[in-house]
Amino acid sequence: MKKIAIIGGGIIGMTLASYLDKTKFAITVFDSEVGQATKASAGIISPWLSKRRNKKWYQLAREGAAFYEKLVCDFHLDASVYTKSGTLLLRKKNDLEELFTLAESRKKEAPEIGELRKLTAEETQKQLPLLKRQPSLHISGGGRLDGAAYLQELKQQALANGIRFEKRNITLSKTTDWLLHEAVTGNLLGTFDFVAVTAGPGLKNLLSPLGYQVDVRPQKGQLLSFTTAFKDSQKWPVAMLDGESDLIPFNNGTILLGATHENEAGFDLNPTQEAYEHLRTVSQPFLDSDELFSKINPTFRVGTRAYTSDFAPFFGPLEDQTIVVASGLGSSGLTTGPYIGYLLADYFHNQSIDTTPYQKSMDTYIKKETNK
Ligand SMILES: Cc1cc2nc3c(=O)[nH]c(=O)nc-3n(C[C@H](O)[C@H](O)[C@H](O)COP(=O)(O)OP(=O)(O)OC[C@H]3O[C@@H](n4cnc5c(N)ncnc54)[C@H](O)[C@@H]3O)c2cc1C
Repeated sequence: MKKIAIIGGGIIGMTLASYLDKTKFAITVFDSEVGQATKASAGIISPWLSKRRNKKWYQLAREGAAFYEKLVCDFHLDASVYTKSGTLLLRKKNDLEELFTLAESRKKEAPEIGELRKLTAEETQKQLPLLKRQPSLHISGGGRLDGAAYLQELKQQALANGIRFEKRNITLSKTTDWLLHEAVTGNLLGTFDFVAVTAGPGLKNLLSPLGYQVDVRPQKGQLLSFTTAFKDSQKWPVAMLDGESDLIPFNNGTILLGATHENEAGFDLNPTQEAYEHLRTVSQPFLDSDELFSKINPTFRVGTRAYTSDFAPFFGPLEDQTIVVASGLGSSGLTTGPYIGYLLADYFHNQSIDTTPYQKSMDTYIKKETNK
C-alpha cells in the first residue's frame, strides 16, 4: 500500500481523496483551515455564458459543469448540498437577445445547459421575488453548490473509508520520500510516497523551499449572507447580475450576495465596509427595493481564492512525478475543482494524464530555479 498526503482539504483535495482507490493508497488529508475558498464560496455552477475568451478554460469549465451529474451520483449528494436550481441572467444593457443566441450555440456541445427561456419582467420577478421587474434569460441546467456542506458530506464518507485528517499547517521537503513537517515547530509528521498539493494560493510557499517559482497569488473574496423571511427560497434560481455581483438563494430564506475580487488584499480575512458598500451599489440596479440592506444585517463570508497571471487554473504532475499540484482556480473553482480532483485521482491510478485540452503547459505557471 502506497502512502499519499494531500495538502489542502478544499474542493480539489477532498474530491481527489474521495476518488482514490483505498485498497491501493493510505490517504491523509492535511488542512490548515485558514481562509479556505471552498467554505466561503457563493456556489454558482453555470459557466456557459461567461465573457471569458480563454478556450481551454471554457473546455475545462464546461466539462467540469457536466461532471456534476456523475459527482452527485457517485457521492449521493442530496439537495442540501447540490441542486440544479436553474440560473437567471440579467443585463444592464438590452443585449439579452445576443445572450440567447450565444446560449443556443453553446448548447450544441453542452446539452447540459438545459432549456433556454426568455422571461418577461413579470416572470423574472415571479422566479426570484427579490429582483426588480426586468426581462431575463433563464437556463434550466445551472446549479448551486453549498461548498461547506459538500466538504462535510465528503469528509463523513472519507472517515468511514479510513481516510485520515489532520488540521495542520504544513511545510514540505524531499529525500527519497516526501517529508511533511508542522510549519511552526518543524516537527516531522510523516513520510509519504506521493504528495498532492491542492492548497490554493498556499502552493507558492509550499513549493518555494523545493526550488520552484509559482505564478499564483491570493485574491480576497467577500460576500454577504442575509436571513430573510422567505421560506421557499431553496426553490428559487441563482441570479447572475451584470457586473460584479450574484444573488444565490439557499434554504430557509438564506440569501448570499457576492462576491468581491480584491487582488491587492493578500491573505487578509477581515470583512470591510468598502466591500459592503460596493456590493450594495452593484446589486442595487437589479433589486426590487433596498429592503435587503436597510432591514437585515448581513454577516460576511471571507475567503482567499488563488489566481494566476492569465487567470487560468493549472494542475498535473511536476517533473518528479510523485508530486501533483493544482491551483489558480479563481472565481470558478467550484465548477472546475471536482473534475480536476477526479482527473488527478485518475493520474495516481494510471500514472498518465493529458491536460493539454484544458491548460497551457505547466511551465507557464511553475518554474524550477536553476541553482536549486
Ligand atoms: C467569496 C467567494 C465566492 C466564490 N464563488 C464561487 C462560485 O459561485 N462558483 C465557483 O465556481 N467558484 C466560486 N468561488 C471560487 C472557489 O470557491 C475556489 O476557486 C475553489 O473553492 C478553490 O478550491 P481549492 O480546493 O483550490 O482551494 P481551497 O478551497 O482554498 O482549499 C485550499 C486549502 O488548503 C489549505 N492550505 C493552504 N496552505 C496550506 C498548508 N501550508 N498546510 C495545510 N493546508 C494548507 C487552506 O487552508 C485551504 O483549506 C468563490 C470563491 C470565493 C472566495
